[in-house]
Formats: sequence, structure tokens, C-alpha cells
Amino acid sequence: MSTPEAPASIVEIVDLVKTYGADTPNPVYALRGIGFSVPKSGFVAVMGHSGSGKSTLLNLLGCLDRATSGTYRLNGTDVARMSRRELAHFRARTLGFVFQSFQLLPRLTARANVELPLQYRGGIGRAERRRRAEAALARVGLADKFERRPTELSGGQQQRVAIARALVNAPALLLADEPTGNLDTGTGLEIMALLQQLNREGVTIVLVTHEPDIAACARQSIHLRDGRIHKVEAYETPSDAQAELERWKREEAARETAAG
Ligand code: ADP
Repeated sequence: MSTPEAPASIVEIVDLVKTYGADTPNPVYALRGIGFSVPKSGFVAVMGHSGSGKSTLLNLLGCLDRATSGTYRLNGTDVARMSRRELAHFRARTLGFVFQSFQLLPRLTARANVELPLQYRGGIGRAERRRRAEAALARVGLADKFERRPTELSGGQQQRVAIARALVNAPALLLADEPTGNLDTGTGLEIMALLQQLNREGVTIVLVTHEPDIAACARQSIHLRDGRIHKVEAYETPSDAQAELERWKREEAARETAAG
């Protein structure tokens, strides 16, 4: 029996164009033909000023919108060829999302929030859902918080729950939209250290940010300007978020001592 060959790239984008209102007198050229790829276990930060096309790109990568032209292959599959229904299934199996505002359901416990993607996917029994959700929560350092509701957790802990929820289906690609945007510096670095650890374990990540310090934690950054790729940077030695966190904690302690 032959096994299907694993695709060389998780994301493969060729000449991607997105125009809003193409048939109106004032079309908006949000993406003007961009191309890049993300290898398995890659970690790419997408940067750019407001209006440069980051959200448009993220929506296309997340299969939430379709390109006007060009190709997007996700985990070896050309998404343009899929029906809406197929795409919804494919998205649930292939992608995990993390947002700036966490987007947890407030009435549900951490475990129930993390179980949700497994419920949507269907075909997984209650005990197995529970086991997988607990494993995902343990993986992000929340083994002792299964029963907590979002209001009983700090912002950083809520983002960890959201990351566990994104991981529970073992997605080919984790998409993170400004995941540290609502967090203080120290907590933001903790979340970046977690994403770096997951990336070292093999999780492929695309992260949108406008903060250079956050982007420097990735292996590569893609800078958008006016819907085009303006610059690509590869970080030979990405910034080590854990080391940055420890440095930041020492500095904070020194500031507190100085303040008496
Ligand atoms: P960013 O996330 O970098 O701020 P966006 O992708 O949101 O950039 O926007 C890129 C361009 O596309 C902007 O000019 C924006 O006004 C426009 N745009 C985004 N979404 C829409 C839409 N749904 N309809 C019309 N224009 C849009």
C-alpha cells in the first residue's frame, strides 16, 4: 500500500491577488500578487502597517475568504478547487486559530472550550474528547486549570486555553492574529516562548503582528506594504522569548528595588 507523499510546504502561495469591489468604480487592490511558502515546522511573522493587507492575507490563509486570482495550496491541497462544504471540513481538520481577544466561550470551562473543535469535527466519543482536551491543556501548562472558566483565569492563561483549543485537532497550520496584542510585555513574552516551544516540537505557525520584537521570535518575517511583499527577513537566530522574558523580569525587579 502506498502512503500519500507529505507536501514539501504547508503553505504555498503563488501570485495571490485579492481585489474588493472589482466590479465597482472604486476597486480596492488589497493584495497585488504575492507569493511565498512556509515549510513544515516553519514559523513566519507577517508584518506591515495598517491597510497593508495583513488581515486580507490572514483571511485567505484561514480559508475564510477566496482570492480573486492566484493559487493557495494548504498542506498540498489547492483550496480554490473545493466546494464551500469541503472547505469547511478541510478548515476544521487543517487549521487552528488564535486571536488577539482569545475568543473563549465565557460559560464553558477551559476543558469544554478546548473540546469544542473536536465536537464540530464529529466522530470522536466523549471520553476521547476529554482525554485530548486535557492533553492539549497540559501541553500549554494548564494541567491544573481544566475546570476554570475564562473569568477565573488571567489574560495569559486565557490565551493558553485558546492555543490548546487551536492545537487539539493537531492542525497542519496554526494561524495567530496579534496573539500578544491584549497582553502586557511579560505575559506577551510568555506566550511567544510557548509558541516557540510548540514550533520546536514541529507546529507550523503563521503569526500576524505589527511589533518587531514579536516578529523577531519567528524564523522569518514577511513585510507587506500596499498589498505587496516589500521585504522578507530570515532570522538565523530568532530572538529567544524565554531568555527575553527572564531578562525583562530581572529589569522589572531592579526597577522596583530602585523605586523603593
Ligand atoms: P491590514 O490588516 O494590514 O490593516 P487589510 O487587509 O485590512 O490591511 O486591508 C487592506 C486594504 O483592503 C485596505 O485598503 C482596506 O481598506 C481594504 N479592505 C479590507 N477589507 C475590505 C473589504 N471587506 N471591503 C473593501 N475593502 C477592504
